[in-house]
Amino acid sequence: MPTFSPSLDFARRLDSLDPLASCRDQFLITDPSLIYLDGNSLGRMTKAAAERAKQVMEEWGHDLIRGWNKDWWDAPRRVGDKIGKLIGAAPGQVIVTDTVSINLFKLATAALTLQPHRKRIITDTLNFPSDLYILQGIVHLLSNASPSPRGRGDGGEGKYELIRIPSRDNDITPDLAALEAAINEDTALVTLSHVTFKSGYLYDMRRITDLAHAKGALVLWDLSHSAGAVPIALDDCNADLAVGCTYKYLNGGPGAPAFLYVNKKLQEKLTSPIWGWWGQKNPFDFDLDYTPAPGVERFLAGTQPMISLLTMETALEPTLQAGLDAIRAKSVLMTDYASYLTDTWLAPFGFSLGSPRDSANRGSHIYIRHPEGYRIARALIEEMNVIPDFRAPHNLRLGFAPLYTSFAEIWEGFDRIRRVVEERRHEKYPKQKLTVT
Ligand SMILES: *Cc1c(COP(=O)(O)O)cnc(C)c1O
Repeated sequence: MPTFSPSLDFARRLDSLDPLASCRDQFLITDPSLIYLDGNSLGRMTKAAAERAKQVMEEWGHDLIRGWNKDWWDAPRRVGDKIGKLIGAAPGQVIVTDTVSINLFKLATAALTLQPHRKRIITDTLNFPSDLYILQGIVHLLSNASPSPRGRGDGGEGKYELIRIPSRDNDITPDLAALEAAINEDTALVTLSHVTFKSGYLYDMRRITDLAHAKGALVLWDLSHSAGAVPIALDDCNADLAVGCTYKYLNGGPGAPAFLYVNKKLQEKLTSPIWGWWGQKNPFDFDLDYTPAPGVERFLAGTQPMISLLTMETALEPTLQAGLDAIRAKSVLMTDYASYLTDTWLAPFGFSLGSPRDSANRGSHIYIRHPEGYRIARALIEEMNVIPDFRAPHNLRLGFAPLYTSFAEIWEGFDRIRRVVEERRHEKYPKQKLTVT
């Protein structure tokens, strides 16, 4: 870690040396006193995306159905290739479509049905709950499907087994030895979040992919918390499959469609479990029987949400311009600085860091823990104009978005957190939780 100092002047000096400082001007900041540390849940809006949304509405009004032949129909593939540049995927392997959850369902199911005699699926307890639910649903669906018409002996029968690798040191790092030991010849799929939503732990993609391949298993990476924050080299790591989110660090907007990646080597072998007309070879032949489209497009199902998709396309520009190396360098400095302020200012008030200390194993958010985490979060939101994320039981999650978070903003955010506990402002809030935290 570099040597930090707790003064506001020092934070301002970091800002003056920041090569990405001017990127903030591309975002709409309506309330300069708001400390927004939740860009890892919903990224800020770019001014250009707002303009583009307006323009798309005008295109809809004027072009009507003709819009599909302009730049609408090809958008999932075109925008997918742009995202490909951010995640190390050569063209023709990424499409934008549906949600992360649905894409995970499609790709995980396709991976399992490719090797039906293998029954083991491996994930971890740090994974995002929706990912675990989707996997549980797949296990339920495939294990209870009627026996194959070919009868016993084709290797397709039997129950799937979902294994969740536990974490060590109080939910900060996964137990890598247990993960390595669990991957065996019965393993069909290893699926993990590249950066875990809980502690911000960053997996070594190449190492885990190699381990799985050595046993003949496929790997499916969820890039939701790393895309746009961490350099990713899918092709270079010989990755198989990936899904990811566009409304977090990619700033695509609430509900902007997600993306999926299928390595070229697998595209013709995999079958989507959802056969829809957008994934049909010749959708406008309106053939009565389904033939999968060649390539990654077979994982499209139905009509895509053009307004949010095209708006998100424009929102990618600042990330594409800045480049992931510069973004990562700033992200590491920000999470190091935030860890330093946690230790220096907050630890005396009972806080502890719930994220890896080594930035090589950390994404762009940190967890800070306090037994009164929930009431502190409420005080921050309701009277201090700070937006963190609260995650049960006592965690405040603080996300740092290199394109628009400044060091002075981090300083101010930590100062306000410190004031809440120092002045015991949180104690007036009930312990009873609100519905949406
Ligand atoms: C944000 C996130 C999701 C979001 O899933 P949706 O289906 O798009 O709502 C999924 N997985 C992970 C790991 C996430 O961080």
